[in-house]
Amino acid sequence: LSPCDLPGMWRYYDWLPARGYVDVHGKPITYKSEGLAKELGLKELYISFNGYWPEMDARMDTCSFKELEAPPTIVRAREHGGRAMVLASVGNTARAFAYLSTLTGFPVVIVVPEKSASNLWIPGRGTPGREPGRSIKLITMEEGNDYADAIRLSERISGIEGMMPEGGARNVARRDGMGVTLLDAAVSMKSMPDDYFQAIGSGTGGIAAWEASLRLRDDGRFGERLPKLHLAQNLPFAPMYHAWRAKRRDIIPDLDMPNAKKQIEEMYTDILSNRSPPYTIKGGVYDALMDTEGEMYAVTNDEAKSAKKQFEA
Ligand SMILES: *Cc1c(COP(=O)(O)O)cnc(C)c1O
Repeated sequence: LSPCDLPGMWRYYDWLPARGYVDVHGKPITYKSEGLAKELGLKELYISFNGYWPEMDARMDTCSFKELEAPPTIVRAREHGGRAMVLASVGNTARAFAYLSTLTGFPVVIVVPEKSASNLWIPGRGTPGREPGRSIKLITMEEGNDYADAIRLSERISGIEGMMPEGGARNVARRDGMGVTLLDAAVSMKSMPDDYFQAIGSGTGGIAAWEASLRLRDDGRFGERLPKLHLAQNLPFAPMYHAWRAKRRDIIPDLDMPNAKKQIEEMYTDILSNRSPPYTIKGGVYDALMDTEGEMYAVTNDEAKSAKKQFEA
């Protein structure tokens, strides 16, 4: 791994599964925390910030780490003969892919439930000479449809000639893009962290951090110990938390997410509402937790709101 002189996240071009790149400014900004570390009583807390915080040089213009997943996914899709991509999202993924679509001209079809439509916007930067938004087709599903319905419709659309699904955690470009968070942390800290904390809905980020840590271990310069994964879900909808706590590899819907639709409506963090996460599958969240001796947590809405205030302060 040798950091390159390329824009944004492409600094880690060596370990990204694409031949080309695209001009984005977003990359994780890893810094040693003072305020939050003190509040939590920690001496060595590093934050890998993925969002928009220009004073810190953090320029993910669509404001989430999905902007690490979209660039390599779109570049790689095009290199593999892809002509258009379809995805379902309640916000962050849609914004990141829509933005990358305007930067590259690669067509995307985005399916969202109506109540999430207001989460969709893109920065006003596009390809010169091309009208921003021209390459994006937005399908808004009427009220009563949730994320799971949007996923089902996008799966049907992906069967149309010329259309490909973005693939979620199964897409190596999404995982390796997301893994850049851990690469940036390891390069900044000069070693892998002992612990890795993340809120999960699909768990792609946890899988990505685990896979990146396996490669960093092979590299040899960043330590031998894999970071322990600490993955959190938002109650009342926390299927992976319940399955993991019961020491099960399988999610049993009746036990782990009874009344899923209602539980999802009650969540504060509805971006974490994935009903079929890659938990059981080989190489998925369960394996990542086992291999890193990881742990899962469930956070209530009140706890989430107070943590948000604390972080901002
Ligand atoms: C997508 C997203 C998550 C969940 O990430 P996964 O690893 O895909 O489960 C958490 N936080 C934010 C801000 C996100 O955009």
